[in-house]
Amino acid sequence: MEKELFKKIDTYKQTVIDLQTNMIACPAVSPHQGGKGENAKAAYLLSVLKKMKFDEVYVINIKDSKAQDGVRPNIVAKYYGENKQKTLWVMAHMDVVPPGDLALWKTDPFKAVVKGDKIYGRGSEDNQQGLVSGLLAVKAMMDCNVRPPCTYALLLNADEEIGSTYGIDAILKKHGKTFGKNDAFLVPDGGNPEGTMVEIAEKNMLWVKFTVFGRQTHASTPHSGNNAHRASAHLVVKLGDLYKKFNKKDKLFAPESTSTFEPTKREANVPNVNTIPGTDVFYLDCRVLPCYKNADVLAEIAKIAKSIEKQFKVKVKVETPINENSKPTDKNAAVVKLTQAAVKAVYKNAPRPMGVGGGTVGAYLRNQGYPAVVYSKLDDMAHQPNEYSSIKNTLGDAKVFALIALNFK
Ligand SMILES: [Zn+2]
Repeated sequence: MEKELFKKIDTYKQTVIDLQTNMIACPAVSPHQGGKGENAKAAYLLSVLKKMKFDEVYVINIKDSKAQDGVRPNIVAKYYGENKQKTLWVMAHMDVVPPGDLALWKTDPFKAVVKGDKIYGRGSEDNQQGLVSGLLAVKAMMDCNVRPPCTYALLLNADEEIGSTYGIDAILKKHGKTFGKNDAFLVPDGGNPEGTMVEIAEKNMLWVKFTVFGRQTHASTPHSGNNAHRASAHLVVKLGDLYKKFNKKDKLFAPESTSTFEPTKREANVPNVNTIPGTDVFYLDCRVLPCYKNADVLAEIAKIAKSIEKQFKVKVKVETPINENSKPTDKNAAVVKLTQAAVKAVYKNAPRPMGVGGGTVGAYLRNQGYPAVVYSKLDDMAHQPNEYSSIKNTLGDAKVFALIALNFK
């Protein structure tokens, strides 16, 4: 049966170009980044989906006062399987990031340009390539009159690029009944050019803000104050001990196979050279292997901060702008095994389960207990000027998703 579907998918090249051209013409930049949001793109996609043989198409609107029409649209389109109690979801996002510096673009970011296998335009790869693959996989089933064993559904989200507040996060929190407890997710929004990365886990995200309080004074009389900058610098160095304390390795996360604890942003303190700063603020970006809990890292951080307070007679305030533990998807979950097998069958390569540094939409799903695989074969053009997608990869991944759907029981 898959041969018939694959043959059908090979005839969809012009469909890929048409879908991409129409979507690229709708700049779905978030209204929180000065854009118009997803409404126009969603209207176009609804017109496409309604002409197809879906059994159900509906929109989950999430209120956003900044958005056109006051809502951000999330589209669900279902093609029933023999078993309607279980659904394989392909989740892709409609929003795009702004084009950035236009001088770096060789073509208009919101007008599709096709050159050989490549379609140029903002959003062509992130995330329209995955969206089109997911759509063509089910179109092939429809065109060949094939019903999959379980329901196959598209979930086209709003707001992925800046935190999913009006997208998957809101759907899970307020519309949780959309999903069944046996459902599984494919998220075609990340991968590598070889198509070998089957992403099933991410590190816990932990961003820590440190505010060190000393006492400001003139730089010529340090004894009359207490230099917060110096204490802060010692604290930065001492936090390096976290690498020794949380030193487990997990091969899933190669090449960055340990937890990481990196000092990053530093806020400006005093504007002039001859003042000793009384306050100093910096941040630590921690990506913690899921075998640890963020709370354990924070307990260790508290100890280190205390030792610095004692040594330098300062106060250290510790805050966590982001603190999210992450549950990996089991590498033996059916959807993981099926993805590996399907990728191998289509591309004749050696796909393997992997973990990433964190901060993907996969975490929202995994934390709710749904198995979720992030997979695409792509050139990693997301957010770059002259973003493009590959027609070949789009069709190849459509075959991958169709094959997974045929075997997802
Ligand atoms: Zn994306």
